[in-house]
Amino acid sequence: MAENVTHILDTPIEYIKGIGPAKGEAIRHDLQIFTLGDLLFTYPFRYVDRTKFIDIKDIRNDNDLIQIKGTLLSLEKIKGKNNRSRLNGVLKDGSGFIDLVWFQSVQWIEKTLEIGQDYIVFGRPATYGGKKNIAHPEMELVSDVVTQTQKTFDPIYSSTEKLDAKGFDNKARRKILKTIIQSLNVQILPENLPEHILSKLNLVSRLQAIKNIHFPTSEVDRDQAVMRIKFEEIFFFQLRILLGKIHRQHKYHSLPFTTVGSSFNEIFKTLPYELTNAQKKVIKEIRADLAKTQQMNRLLQGDVGSGKTVVALLVMAIARDNDFQSCLMAPTEILAQQHYLSISSMTQGTNIKVTFLTGSIKGKARAAILESLAKGETDIIIGTHALIEDTVVFSKLGLAVIDEQHRFGVAQRAGLWKKNKDFAPHVLVMTATPIPRTLAMTLYGDLDVSVIDELPPGRKDIKTLHQYESSRPRVIEFMHKEIEKGRQIYIVYPLIEESEKLDLKNLEEGYERLLTYFPPPHFQISVVHGRMKAAAKDFEMNRFVKGITQIMVATTVIEVGVNVPNASVMIIENTERFGLSQLHQLRGRVGRGAEQSFCILMSDVKLSKDGKERIKTMVETNNGFVIAEADLKLRGPGDLQGTQQSGLLDFKLLNISADRSIVETARYFATMILENDQQLEKNEHQPIRNFLVILKKKYKDWGRIS
Ligand code: ADP
Ligand code: MG
Repeated sequence: MAENVTHILDTPIEYIKGIGPAKGEAIRHDLQIFTLGDLLFTYPFRYVDRTKFIDIKDIRNDNDLIQIKGTLLSLEKIKGKNNRSRLNGVLKDGSGFIDLVWFQSVQWIEKTLEIGQDYIVFGRPATYGGKKNIAHPEMELVSDVVTQTQKTFDPIYSSTEKLDAKGFDNKARRKILKTIIQSLNVQILPENLPEHILSKLNLVSRLQAIKNIHFPTSEVDRDQAVMRIKFEEIFFFQLRILLGKIHRQHKYHSLPFTTVGSSFNEIFKTLPYELTNAQKKVIKEIRADLAKTQQMNRLLQGDVGSGKTVVALLVMAIARDNDFQSCLMAPTEILAQQHYLSISSMTQGTNIKVTFLTGSIKGKARAAILESLAKGETDIIIGTHALIEDTVVFSKLGLAVIDEQHRFGVAQRAGLWKKNKDFAPHVLVMTATPIPRTLAMTLYGDLDVSVIDELPPGRKDIKTLHQYESSRPRVIEFMHKEIEKGRQIYIVYPLIEESEKLDLKNLEEGYERLLTYFPPPHFQISVVHGRMKAAAKDFEMNRFVKGITQIMVATTVIEVGVNVPNASVMIIENTERFGLSQLHQLRGRVGRGAEQSFCILMSDVKLSKDGKERIKTMVETNNGFVIAEADLKLRGPGDLQGTQQSGLLDFKLLNISADRSIVETARYFATMILENDQQLEKNEHQPIRNFLVILKKKYKDWGRIS
């Protein structure tokens, strides 16, 4: 039986009655629909209310689908150019006349239609030669429709012209789907949610939902089907993530950090500032994790400048108090270096031993660093992904801190776990990309999340202005003034892969122009872009970090983490070409010192609606979470950093941004179910278990999710 069942949904598309090899091929190619199941689970993107008819005189040319009822007055076949004929018809209702026209299957259509009969005509009106017409309308005899079960909503599926021409248009598709749906039953489409969820949330059954998503008989029907399917999508998504987490917790154990001792206290006491409440809160959360034998997997989110580094240091100090080593991994050499500098200065005078390792440290120096690490003399090692290499051996790695998460892949994170034989280090991932809670829950569902939602006191908000090219002279003048005050300036150009050459040209032209306004040797300008060799990049960056150059012209390579407190102006060119989160990251490069900082957004006068909205948001707020929310709304989750390649968030109906209450409800139920029944052994959870088996087969690689 079970095998039989899988069989039906797995029926290749061309074997479905009414499809066949030619259409099947086109459907596979154009719609990526391969099986009967795919067809069934590809939902309409809208519906047309077939209870409504419009009077011909009221037809507007807004290209929307309409339905009219009238008498077919005439039909005339006309031989056109190159021997292709078309069919012209005229339809009349109580209010007027409209032309109908067919260019394809002319013979066949002419045969099926009958002059003098009343038809329901359905299609998209257009204007041709000053007259309204409808090309290729769907025609149904009024008498036929009346005898049919009552019509209400017609589903509309996305399709292609080629498929329409091949005879797999919406009408044909509806007919095929109707037949399929009539033959569905709970054996073919078993319920996959437990009864208690269905009743508590008042959800319709899976079978009902699939029937009604295609052929609702009322808006309520349709809404219930949509709700049920959205819930199912996110529920199983969450469940799989949580199961992965449980699986990992069984597989990997960490050693608990039980004490907080002198290392922590010494650093804490000598801090030149008081920790913010938010910093204290997250340290507490992390400490609670570290006291367990379960591996910590925590995401620390904090807006740029919120003070994540000191949190990382204090946590690494706790590791040392428990005789464990820690590592801090950053995505670039510059960042690793900056971490090393600030952490070295904060640990000065303590007996915490901090070292630094990147790929460019070689020979004897490298050997010495590695030896000290392997012997357990080094407490904290800071570096780039060079830390993952097999030659880097720890004596006892208890904690791995990873800065700027989205630059590292999952595989790299996992590489650090394997540094010890018998236990895994606790893992703290830090990111300055604020992710709205709903998305974090979904995307990093396997990580616990801590948020630093407060900036250290006394920070001045960065003043953000929007300027057009016409104010360039004033911008230049402003730059001169800031440089006279001793400040430094970033100028950032967009870099989009497809037109990398063009972008580089923009940057180079911009640089040439700057040289005329800020001529050497009095002024010094650094240039950094993605096409440069790493060493050259570092050299230029360092000149800016050290204050040798006053202006840094760059592409987005400087987006992440660079800390030059003396830089007070961020000028962004072609702002309209950046995403919101990216703009926010870039702006975060300034405002790190005591001075008032500025962000100047240069743009074209011509802006898209979205472009305008992004710039407006930037001008209005400095709050990373507000910006992340706006970004999510504008772009959808697919474009958010770190999610691009994952394809993880391809929900068919669910919209993470709009449906957050569904996301949270599903999260709640998934968590609750696994808390009570980790192995999903209970009878009532059988439907879930069965469905997970199917999902697992479908997404063979779902284990790689996190
Ligand atoms: P980010 O979260 O962007 O990594 P950093 O850790 O680089 O932020 O901190 C930014 C700046 O804020 C640093 O110069 C740091 O010394 C300072 N800082 C951190 N915490 C506090 C605090 N509680 N009070 C005042 N300044 C702080
Ligand atoms: Mg940082």
